[in-house]
Amino acid sequence: MAADPLTAAIDAGTPLVVLSPHLDDAVLSCGGLMSHAAGRTKVRVVTFFTEAGAPPYTLSGRRYLRQVGQPDAELLYRDRRAEDREVLERLGVDWRHLGLSDCLFRRKPGASGGRAGCLRRVLPESWYVYPTYRLHISTGRISRHDSDTLSRVRASLEQLAAPPHTVLLAPSGVGGHVDHVLVRTAAELSGRTVVYYSDFPYNQQHRLDLDFVERNALVEVEWSRQLAPKVELVRGYRSQADALFPGGVIPVVPEVYLLADGDRVSHGPAGGAR
Ligand SMILES: [Zn+2]
Repeated sequence: MAADPLTAAIDAGTPLVVLSPHLDDAVLSCGGLMSHAAGRTKVRVVTFFTEAGAPPYTLSGRRYLRQVGQPDAELLYRDRRAEDREVLERLGVDWRHLGLSDCLFRRKPGASGGRAGCLRRVLPESWYVYPTYRLHISTGRISRHDSDTLSRVRASLEQLAAPPHTVLLAPSGVGGHVDHVLVRTAAELSGRTVVYYSDFPYNQQHRLDLDFVERNALVEVEWSRQLAPKVELVRGYRSQADALFPGGVIPVVPEVYLLADGDRVSHGPAGGAR
């Protein structure tokens, strides 16, 4: 049986670039495919939101820090970057950390002094682009205070995905986490040929955004190889594994990729990149 176009492109040695919102998403969602690709072609993971910020934090920020057992967000993100390097180097793939702040720690631009500064000390939420997880971060709506972040993600994508004949993987934003939606939006606006991945483990509880699937004419391809080694890679994200998988059981489920309805999965000088 002929391989699907994604597998065929990788087996033919087409380089793979995986866009990862956070320091674990690429492996969580694409670890099986990346394990297969690592020995066959050049693989690079580009992670966008790799930094935290200084206190005071929002209630949602403090709750997350309590959940992972590290009250100092800067130290947590230092550990997370180290974990990511360790996992990806073990896998034999290239990595880049782009240094944008995670949305839990992203503040509105502007001064911190005066009356606004007083309010921000009493109510840190007033200082943040996304004041709460439930009502802001998980809705998938990009805040009007976050247009600069979208511009930075788009500019990074233009530079990093420039080499022709690359398979570009981006999140499909299942679950509506706004950092995932930002990267998906930048990928969609790039005009390039993009293969989207279904965001694990969000996809265990949430469905794909059907408007997004329809407007890009995407079809699903399941990937079921290399899932056991992937579980070991996921365990390498020690600071996150307990919070992501309470009870310690990491579900072994196929990865899901969304391809444009057609044969081409890599962009090239023939017209894919604009
Ligand atoms: Zn994420």
